[in-house]
Parts: sequence; C-alpha cells; structure tokens
Amino acid sequence: MVMYQAPLRDIRFVMNEVLDYPGHYQALPHGEDASPDVVEAIVDAAATFCQEVLSPLNASGDLEGCHFQAGEVITPAGFKDAYAQFVAGGWQSLSFPADYGGQGLPVSLNLIKSEMMGTANWAFTMYPGLSIGCINTLLQFGSDSLKRQYLPRLVAGEWTGTMCLTEPQCGSDLGQVKTQAKPLPDGTYALHGTKIFISSGEHDLADNIVHIVLARLPGAPAGTRGISLFVVPKCQVEADGSLGPRNHVHCGSLEHKMGIHGNATAVLNFEGAIGTLIAEPHHGLEAMFTFMNTARIGTAIQGVAHAELSFQGAVRYALERRSMRSLSGKKEPDQVADALIWHADVRRMLLTQKAIAEGGRAMIYGAAQLADRMFQAAWHGDTEQHARYDDELGFYTPILKGFLTEMGLEAANLGMQVLGGHGYIREHGMEQIVRDARIATLYEGTTGIQALDLLGRKVLMGTQGRCVRDFTGKMLKLATPHLLSGGARGRLARRLARGAVQWNLLTLRLMLKARRDRDQVGAASVDYLMYCGYMMMAYFWAMQALRADVLLRQGKGADSPDFYRAKIQTAEFYFERLLPRAQIHAQTALASTRTLMQMPNDHFGLSA
Ligand SMILES: Cc1cc2nc3c(=O)[nH]c(=O)nc-3n(C[C@H](O)[C@H](O)[C@H](O)COP(=O)(O)OP(=O)(O)OC[C@H]3O[C@@H](n4cnc5c(N)ncnc54)[C@H](O)[C@@H]3O)c2cc1C
Repeated sequence: MVMYQAPLRDIRFVMNEVLDYPGHYQALPHGEDASPDVVEAIVDAAATFCQEVLSPLNASGDLEGCHFQAGEVITPAGFKDAYAQFVAGGWQSLSFPADYGGQGLPVSLNLIKSEMMGTANWAFTMYPGLSIGCINTLLQFGSDSLKRQYLPRLVAGEWTGTMCLTEPQCGSDLGQVKTQAKPLPDGTYALHGTKIFISSGEHDLADNIVHIVLARLPGAPAGTRGISLFVVPKCQVEADGSLGPRNHVHCGSLEHKMGIHGNATAVLNFEGAIGTLIAEPHHGLEAMFTFMNTARIGTAIQGVAHAELSFQGAVRYALERRSMRSLSGKKEPDQVADALIWHADVRRMLLTQKAIAEGGRAMIYGAAQLADRMFQAAWHGDTEQHARYDDELGFYTPILKGFLTEMGLEAANLGMQVLGGHGYIREHGMEQIVRDARIATLYEGTTGIQALDLLGRKVLMGTQGRCVRDFTGKMLKLATPHLLSGGARGRLARRLARGAVQWNLLTLRLMLKARRDRDQVGAASVDYLMYCGYMMMAYFWAMQALRADVLLRQGKGADSPDFYRAKIQTAEFYFERLLPRAQIHAQTALASTRTLMQMPNDHFGLSA
C-alpha cells in the first residue's frame, strides 16, 4: 500500500518561487484574503488531512468498494467518517462566495487542495469533486430563490451534487439525449429517462444529492440545440432549504468497474422526478459547458495525482530493493547487490514519473491562475473579462485534460514496472493506481474528444491558430534572454524557442491540409494534442529550471541547493528524453489520411 506524503516542498516551489502566487493573489479583486499566512495554513492543513485521514482509506476503499442494496448505496468503511471530517473542516466551502457560506478564497486554492486529496484517495475525492460542477452551474444559472434553497447546504458540503449527462445510447454525442421533461402546472417539470455512469450518483455520505440533468422539453429541436438543463434533487427541497419528500429518482444499480471502486458509479432512473429548469430552454448544453473548463482541469489533476502517487511508491521501492550490480561498477559493495535505483533503466522510469508529476503540477497551477481571474470576473459580472479568460483557459483545458491523463496513465504503468512482479500484486498498491488512472482518459470527454475540441474547435475554427501564437509568444519571451547563455540554461532556452517556431508551423500546415481534406482534423487530432502537451510541459519545465538556476546562482531560495539542482536535472531529462517524442507526433499528425480511410469497413477482419 502506498502511503501518500504531500510533496509540500514542490508545491511551495511552484506556487511561491515560480508562479508568484502571493503577487497573483494580491492582484485579484478580493485576493487579499489569500495572504501568504492563510495560504500556508490551508496547504499545511490539507496535507495533514490527506495524509492522516484520506490516504489510509485508499487501499481499503478499493478492496471493499461500494455496496448496492435495494436502491441504497453504502460507501466503504471509513468514508462516511472522513466525509464528516471534510465537511467539519470547511473544505468544500473554500473557494465559493461568502453570500452562500463560502470562504471566498480563489479557486486555485481549491484546485491545489484537490490535487492533494485526489492523490491521497481519488475515489473519495470524487464525491465532493462532482459537487463543484453542480454548485458552479447553480451559481451561474440558478434563480435567486433556487440559489438560496440549494447553495448553502451544497457549499457547506452537507449535500453533494452530480452531473447527469450520459445515457445508454450516448456519452460523447450528447445531441442524442432522450430524457424527457414534461411541464407541470406549478412551473416545475417531471423528468422521465435513464442516466448511466453517474459518478457519486447515490451514496450514504450526505442527506441529499442534487442532480444537474440534461433533458428535452416537449417539441424540442433534435440534436444539441434542443437540450435543456434541470436541477433534480434526490429529496425535494422546501423554499426555506429544508428537506421535503423523496423525489422519484432512484439508483437502479451500480456499475462494476476496473478501478475507482470506492466511488459509486450509478444508473439513475428518473420516473417522474420533479425538477426545475435552469438556464434558457434548449440552451442547456451551452450552460453545462460554461464551467467545463474547470471541471476538466479537475480531471487533468487526476493525471498528476496518479503520477505522483505511483512515483512515491516506486522511488521508495527502488531505494530498498536490490538486484545485480550497476553496469558501471558496484555502487554498494557492502550489500549483496546494488539498489534498483542505480540501474539506468530504472532511473529512466523514475525520472519519467517525476518529470510528469512535477511538470504536470506546474501546468495545472499555471492554468489555475487563469481560472482565478475567470471566476472573479464571473462573480463580479464582468462579462468581457470572463470571456477573455475563459477563452484563454479554453485553449489550456483540452491539452491539460487529454495530455496529462494520458501521461498519468503512463507514469502509473511505469511505477508498476519498477516493482516488477510485485507491482502486479495487490499488496503494494501499485496496480490499484493503474486501475484508478485508466478512467481519466475516458470520462469528462475522451482523449479523442478533447483532441477534436482542441484542433478543430479551438485552434482551427475558433482562432485560426491565434491561441497557439499567443502561447508560443510566451515561450519565446521566456527563452529569448537566455538564448546565448551556456550550460543547461542556454540549451533549454534554445530548444524551447525552436519548439515555439515549430508549433506554429505545424499548426499552419495542418490548417492548409484540413482545407483540402476534412478527415485530416480527426486523423491528426490526438497526435496534435500530444504534441501540444509536450510543448506546453516544456514551457513549464523551462520556467522551473530557469527559476531554480537564478536561485542557485544568487544563493537564495527557501532551502537546500539540492532541491534546485534536482529541478534543473529533471528539466534536462525532460528536454532530452521526453520532449523528442513530440517530433514523432508532429510527423504523424502531418501524415495523409489515406492509410486510415482507404480500407472498406467490411475488410477490418471480422469475416469468418
Ligand atoms: C466510471 C465512470 C464515471 C463516469 N461519470 C460520469 C458522470 O458523472 N456523469 C456523466 O454524465 N457521465 C459520466 N461518465 C460517462 C463518460 O463521460 C462517458 O463514458 C464518456 O464521455 C464517453 O462516452 P461513451 O462511453 O458513450 O463513449 P462513446 O461516445 O461511444 O465513444 C466511444 C469511442 O469513440 C470515440 N468517438 C466518439 N465520437 C467520436 C467522434 N465524433 N470522433 C472521433 N471519435 C469519436 C471516443 O473517443 C471513444 O474512444 C462516466 C463514465 C465512467 C466509466
């Protein structure tokens, strides 16, 4: 079993020494509440909660799973008590407005807390995690009375929320949603239909579960333009916010799945369940996607979380387990054999995990600053600023979600490999990380869907490459002062600058190819997404290494020079051994669609 240790030194390095979070918070309207002392106290307390309460339940929650009996769901032993502690600690309310009982702190603090919680125990973290989408939707689209009815209990964590999109016939293509909402004389609606795969859809942690549901009004247009959004509680809610009678939404069963066993994935049957329309009729999908960027950052965190946890398990093992001698001569002659960590190939695996976890963390924390600005604008009714930051974040999110979850899975697999056969055995907890990590590339939009969103919608149609030009402008700005420097600084800067130029060129070439062949977008999209991910991670690694270099040279920084040296060394590893993969992705993205599309469907090989 891998016990989580919060990587506080790295978290503080990225927040304080690289991304200047103290300055960032001071520049936010109402950011003064997030003073360095407050932030420090929150980060420390979150680390303690995660290490002492959540981490010990990770393996037992996986082993026991959730139990379904006659419509009720019992979560694994310890989850209920841990959730009560989560609520009592005020952890859900951290970043929500004070009007509804929140602490009004920036959303980035919530994301940083979620990273620690998710690494300690992803399945548990999904219960309060799903509530965040529900709360954000109500904040943005709920009427004042609906907000008063629901938000105080949701913000406190006393109730939880879900997002009910998927149906048996559709997940990616929500235009096929069939659930019906029939108007009732009192202005509410009766919902009929079945939703599947609903995370945290039924459980015993809270008194009520508030479902945000996609459904169709009578006579609604077909496809995505005929979908509306409803709030449907498990127990009806009186005008004063107190609990009313049980609503007609019931859990039909729980899915049996590969991982995240501690989280209940429910089939929900809506059998005349009473709901309230939120947002404009037929514009439910747009409303649902308003806060999708932050939901997707939430899932991107899963990649970092599993990379970090698997790295922690693997590095501890590699320091202790002994096997043969290092090829360059005995390293621990007094021992029967050298520790695994001396072997170059084991170091390759460990450094890949470290580069993914720490590079991914910096990417998430960078995007979280944009999320702060976007949410502050939304809550203060500044639509222009909201649109600007939403747009910028919109470019980051498919990359973070798609790339980091794919890389998190790779890192989780490598962690298992470091332990050899022992990685495959349940006892060490490494195989659980692989099973838990697998879902991240599927839900909240598969990697394929993220890639289409990135290349098709954001890069080509939405901005004709402007979003790439904006981001590569930042890469060049970072690299330029160091281009003529010697050593690691110069090498990283020159490689980063070349990457910036190439990224624009690749985008331009794909734009031209897509004009001649529409299938080119779909054929290139996942390779393009991965290319963008490697480049974006290179930017955040260069930023970390350059900062560590300055602190080392000036003899400054929070503590030992070894930490900064390790940062530069990991960045060098990333640039030399992981970034070159981007070239293969660029080459493949530019390949013609012929070999993909030429074979008739009935030649795929199922014939007898
Ligand atoms: C454990 C778990 C938890 C979940 N939690 C929730 C939840 O809380 N709420 C909720 O609403 N849903 C939830 N889901 C559902 C999840 O979001 C969907 O499974 C996911 O969006 C994919 O939809 P699908 O399974 O129908 O696959 P499909 O949409 O059928 O896709 C199958 C494959 O085809 C590809 N594909 C589909 N369309 C295209 C296209 N146009 N171009 C190229 N490729 C395409 C996809 O990338 C994928 O590889 C959950 C699922 C699981 C397994």
